[in-house]
Amino acid sequence: MSLMHDVVNPATEQVIASVPSSSAEETDAAIARAGEALSSWREVAPGDRANLLRAFSDTVRAHVEELAALEVANSGHTIANARWEANNVANVLAYYSGAPERLFGRQIPVPGGIDITFKEPVGVVGVIVPWNFPMPIAGWGFAPALAAGCTVVLKPAELTPLTAMRLGELALEAGIPEGVFTVIPGKGSIVGQRFVDNPIVRKVVFTGSTGVGEQIMAGAARQVKRVTLELGGKSANVIFADSDLEKAAATAPYGVFDNAGQDCCARSRILVERSAFDRFMGLFETAVKGVRVEDPALATSEMGPLISQGQHDSVSTYLDGSVPVAFQGTCPTGPGYWFPPTVLAPVTADARAFQEEIFGPIVVVTPFDDEADAIRLANDSEYGLSGSIWTRDVGRALRVSRGIDAGNLSVNSHSSVRYWTPFGGFKRSGLGRELGPDALDAFTETKNVFISTDD
Ligand code: NAP
Ligand code: MG
Repeated sequence: MSLMHDVVNPATEQVIASVPSSSAEETDAAIARAGEALSSWREVAPGDRANLLRAFSDTVRAHVEELAALEVANSGHTIANARWEANNVANVLAYYSGAPERLFGRQIPVPGGIDITFKEPVGVVGVIVPWNFPMPIAGWGFAPALAAGCTVVLKPAELTPLTAMRLGELALEAGIPEGVFTVIPGKGSIVGQRFVDNPIVRKVVFTGSTGVGEQIMAGAARQVKRVTLELGGKSANVIFADSDLEKAAATAPYGVFDNAGQDCCARSRILVERSAFDRFMGLFETAVKGVRVEDPALATSEMGPLISQGQHDSVSTYLDGSVPVAFQGTCPTGPGYWFPPTVLAPVTADARAFQEEIFGPIVVVTPFDDEADAIRLANDSEYGLSGSIWTRDVGRALRVSRGIDAGNLSVNSHSSVRYWTPFGGFKRSGLGRELGPDALDAFTETKNVFISTDD
């Protein structure tokens, strides 16, 4: 009998479900079943595996409204975002359903025979998911892993297990065989730790904090276990005076306050060219005060609550008076972990709020002098996940894009994640890349076979 864990709606503080908190023994049993399922799953003919992934995608698509409603209740995501997230799972499954039939090796010219390479599934993959984007981050791990012929055990965050558990049921409904994709709710220190320590798991895909990511990498090293790490961020939104300043200011709140700032790609450091600073701040204030922070189930809601009281406490520590609050937006009062969009300015690079990932709706604004200063400030961070550059000068856009040490940059836009393109971090933001055409490489080992043509 598992212990149970209460799941809370962060907009109301009401308990909405109680889910099992799996033990180490239950986790090992699920891992063993995933290990047993591996030999038959990898033998499923490529076209059949593709069809099963398409069926899984279609089943998710047919349940978008249910999944989205579940995410609004469990995670406080706005309904518009939650629909996008559920559709993202279906899209990513559909995208990687094309992969089993295209998992090409190479034929390499060598003397004395024929040389060919195979992409073999790495084995059982453990996916550890954080609470900030429960559905997409799960899908970015399990979809390419399943396509590559791996079986998957997945641990959702203890705070937000409901959509992942439903996805596990939908996989079975779609015909994915038992043991191929198993969702195991429970604690990171128990279930997640077994993914690291149990030798049947050959690869861990982890998204979450840099501190836990370091522990996972160190633990995996003992077995030379493969890891992909998607960790924290402190991304810059670099705004030059020659940009469309109205558009830059109108979109900046959504580049950082989306998902209440609980986004590893949040553009939480706005760097503005000094000559445009005052004009930007005027436009930005209007935009921030216009952000609709309200019941996330409403179609008009642009931002919901923080995930938990613990996160609220942690975010609140950045309003300690050490840097000036320039202005704030509004948010509901009463039950729920609400926090208003908050702008700290001007802030220098040595401030804690400039250096640390806040993971809440707080942004710092810092002036810069010229292009070189902008790049220097953007790179004054231990992180390197994403960032934006606003300018009308194409040469400058390219120079600054090449100059910033980050994995995902956007020019005159705030998009980081497109499932067709690679996603991941430089420096302490992570290791490896997810999504895009090369994600299969993270779930396969290259095997080289030489066949002699001697008689
Ligand atoms: P976290 O502690 O790193 O948790 C992420 C996932 O790892 C959760 O499923 C967690 O399980 C699990 N976990 C925790 N300890 C583990 C261990 N020793 N071994 C294996 N798995 C373990 O992150 P968090 O507490 O949710 O958030 C804290 C901070 O992490 C945030 O404030 C933010 O800075 C950062 N973060 C970054 C991202 C990102 O997308 N890059 C996402 C979320 C958070 P439990 O649910 O049981 O804790
Ligand atoms: Mg934690």
